[in-house]
Amino acid sequence: MKAIAIVGFKKSGKTTLALKIAKALINKNYRVAVLKHSSKAVEHELSDTDKFLKEVGRVALITPESTEIMFQAQWDLKDVVPLLSADFLVIEGFKSLKYFPKVYCLKDEKEKELLDDGLGIFSAGLDASLQEEGLVDYLINEEKDLSVMVELIEQKGFFLPNKNCGKCGYENCYELARAIVRDEESPKKCIYAQDYIDIKVNGKTISLNPFMSQLYQSLIYSILAPLKDIDSLEQAVIEIKADATDALIKKRDN
Ligand code: SF4
Repeated sequence: MKAIAIVGFKKSGKTTLALKIAKALINKNYRVAVLKHSSKAVEHELSDTDKFLKEVGRVALITPESTEIMFQAQWDLKDVVPLLSADFLVIEGFKSLKYFPKVYCLKDEKEKELLDDGLGIFSAGLDASLQEEGLVDYLINEEKDLSVMVELIEQKGFFLPNKNCGKCGYENCYELARAIVRDEESPKKCIYAQDYIDIKVNGKTISLNPFMSQLYQSLIYSILAPLKDIDSLEQAVIEIKADATDALIKKRDN
């Protein structure tokens, strides 16, 4: 799974940007989930729900529009993420956590200093003058900037498990995360990293669950690995050009 955190102070445009990025990734066929930080407790329309939550600690609320499962406890991100079952996690907030890359949403120079923890892949802002002054790389409400931002996020998104075991050779996940952001390492350096492949058909990313991803990967790699002309399959980009016959198209449509 890949992840990006959109961080910034109040009114910096982080919700606007997180929503635009999440929608753009969905349009590219990723299964996207948003994980949002809030300093306030959620207020429920039905006060009975709060009573159950306070007294019992675990409540599921099912309405015609949505389903909420609530626990009267703060969970760690790594415990919540598997429940979301997503290919791409867009995190809004959590600026103090340091095991995924970040986009800094800025309003001024001072905020840049406060946010900069070596995990930023770019900065973004709402005000064009910030870009003119060289403070932000991209503008949140510019469509052309959005497509560049989404491409960068696709290339550079990652999520380390925050186990801080040191088995990758780095002291903790933060040190490896910084090296990945500097393009000196790959997320695969983490011993808990899962192998994965991305499949694109006519430029469109095909969403695969972990089981199918591993199945396709072992199938493709077992065909290619014995070939002598291939130096390495690490970070390999494999192109397959296919022109389906009428019979195959008919079979699929049936
Ligand atoms: S191997 Fe490195 S990145 Fe992975 S959990 Fe351990 S310290 Fe973190």
